[in-house]
Amino acid sequence: MPLDFSFTEEQEFFRQTVRDVVNRLIMPRVVELDEKEEFPWDLWKEFAELGYLGLRHDEKYGGMGTDTITQMIFYEEMARGSCGFNMAVTLHVLMGTYFIGRYGNEETKERILIPAIKGEKIGTICFTEDQSGSDLAGTRTLATKVDGGWRINGRKQWITNGPIADFATVMATVDSKLGLKGLNFFLVEKKTAYRDGFVPGQRLHKLGARCSMTGELVFDNVFVPDENFLGEETGKGVEYAGEILNEVRVLTAVTACAMARLAMDDAREYAKNRIAFGKPIGNYQLIRKKFAKFWAWYEASRTFAYKCAWMIQNKIPCTNECAMVKYHATEMCMYAVEEAMRIYGGNAFCTEYPVQRYWRDAKFLLYGGGTHEILCDFIGRAYLKD
Ligand SMILES: Cc1cc2nc3c(=O)[nH]c(=O)nc-3n(C[C@H](O)[C@H](O)[C@H](O)COP(=O)(O)OP(=O)(O)OC[C@H]3O[C@@H](n4cnc5c(N)ncnc54)[C@H](O)[C@@H]3O)c2cc1C
Repeated sequence: MPLDFSFTEEQEFFRQTVRDVVNRLIMPRVVELDEKEEFPWDLWKEFAELGYLGLRHDEKYGGMGTDTITQMIFYEEMARGSCGFNMAVTLHVLMGTYFIGRYGNEETKERILIPAIKGEKIGTICFTEDQSGSDLAGTRTLATKVDGGWRINGRKQWITNGPIADFATVMATVDSKLGLKGLNFFLVEKKTAYRDGFVPGQRLHKLGARCSMTGELVFDNVFVPDENFLGEETGKGVEYAGEILNEVRVLTAVTACAMARLAMDDAREYAKNRIAFGKPIGNYQLIRKKFAKFWAWYEASRTFAYKCAWMIQNKIPCTNECAMVKYHATEMCMYAVEEAMRIYGGNAFCTEYPVQRYWRDAKFLLYGGGTHEILCDFIGRAYLKD
């Protein structure tokens, strides 16, 4: 196959369409969404009507059934808008519904996936607990087998969409002594008068991505029927999580690219207009170097991210590449938002300028899909193994 870096006409058209939607519906509201810290249900409904909540799912369930590269285009364009809304949408589209689409039975898909694609239900994924984040073997949420199903006990924290979620894919252990081999996924619904389920706990107030609702979910002896066990056999939860981890890392990388670009494009305008010592600050070599380093690093990250998307799409093994691209692109983004802050001088510290928001929002990229340290450890070990 010849080397070809171009997007298809359909992908270019899709990019332009999403860009127009983001410009029209989200851009005018980014400041309000950040300040109010409220979830924008009206935008959610609009995105459902546009079909974006079913981006990756089968057309049979009302989804768009797009390829991986097209999904990354969507995530990249969305990242230019509200970070919080982007987080809520991407979490729902990818991790919140993936395991139901992959392992749910037809009844579950009818009841959960179809309304989720229509925007009538909102979903999430629950790994993190008080004492386990990077180290999933530390999971304490317990699933106990009972007649006809399972009883779930435990608490999850840092859950995106948690306070507003209707359903959650929950990682729980059948026996904490088994470590990673005891982990499984369960579909758990919110407690209602008719259904046993989780209850939302404390909501968190965040540094950035503030209009996404984040918080704790509490599972108090919750009964879930056998059909809500997501998978083919017990003990494969980590393996199943691995199916989607590459996509999560590439999604984070394209998001980092878009956020970095936004911050540096703004800083470029500022550098052209801000006068110091009689000249625009962009005329000084030390300032120009910031743009040079960013631009070169950005282009490498973005090209690498789409290469990873292409590898996923073509089912080429790429676990190491996806870990590297998340590491590379998020570090690039941290550099970009930090340097953009410096270019703005004291004005960066004022909420009137968006650069402080880019800086605050970008920090969320550092956690999901592996922290800097976890990724470096993984990449280093893989390199030494060869
Ligand atoms: C905005 C936001 C949204 C989130 N949404 C979700 C969600 O929807 N669902 C969900 O399940 N979770 C979610 N999380 C949680 C996220 O997945 C965790 O923060 C992440 O897995 C890291 O875990 P931790 O925060 O517990 O850090 P820890 O694992 O406690 O790590 C703390 C520090 O120690 C370092 N460290 C840990 N182990 C090692 C090691 N072996 N070697 C070197 N250094 C190490 C880490 O790199 C880090 O610097 C969210 C987090 C944020 C900030």
